[in-house]
Formats: sequence, C-alpha cells, structure tokens
Amino acid sequence: MFPLPHVIFSTILSIILYPFIGSNVIIVWSASIFIDIDHYFWYIINNKSWNFYQAYTKHKNQELRKPYKFHIFHLVELLILIGLLGFYNKIFFYIFIGMLFHYILDWIDMYRHPDMIKGRTWSLIMYFKRKWST
Ligand SMILES: [Zn+2]
Repeated sequence: MFPLPHVIFSTILSIILYPFIGSNVIIVWSASIFIDIDHYFWYIINNKSWNFYQAYTKHKNQELRKPYKFHIFHLVELLILIGLLGFYNKIFFYIFIGMLFHYILDWIDMYRHPDMIKGRTWSLIMYFKRKWST
C-alpha cells in the first residue's frame, strides 16, 4: 500500500482514538506510517543507491517486483516482540497498535491484489527457511 492511504486511514484511526489516549495518538499515527521506511532500506541495500526519489518512483511503478523482499519492520516476529514489550511500557503498546493497524491495511491491500503476496517476507522464520532450502 502506498503512503497516502496509510496517512489517511491512520489519521482517521488517530481521530477515533484521541478521546481515549490523548496525545499518544501521535505515537500510534507515526508507527502506522513510518514503518514503511523499511522499503527504502531494502532499496538502498539491493540497489546500492540512496536516491529516495528514485526508490519511491520505482516502488510506485512496480519496477521492484522481486519475490519475498525483506522488509525489517513488516515481520510478524517484530510485531509480537513490540506487543510483548507493550505489557511493560505504554510507548511500545502504542507503537504496537500503530504497527498492527499498518499490517492490517497492508493485508487488506494484498487481499485485493493477490499477486503481491509473494512480494514480501512476513516472517523471519519463513525467510530463513526459504534461504536455507534453496
Ligand atoms: Zn507496509
């Protein structure tokens, strides 16, 4: 999913949550949007280029259709870890809410575009299983 729908839906979620968690919605909103920075990290590593505009354009034009891209902030294990840390610290709990919302939006997007499912690695375990079996 591209950044604009994430911004729009995360803003709507933040408006809904504001009466309950106050200014902590900034954490939820930020976590829900900025975890996509891992797309740029992946681009830097795989294309040996820091050109942000080019990375965005290539993502937008779907020129980077490699299977099972490794996006570090889109791993279920990381979501679980942040969720567990959320039991001990409220900030992690709000980050967890934002990340979970982001994941849900991405999953809805993949449901709408099934060809994208193989485009990303969603689990560290699956990543290493694939890497070691080839
Ligand atoms: Zn995403």
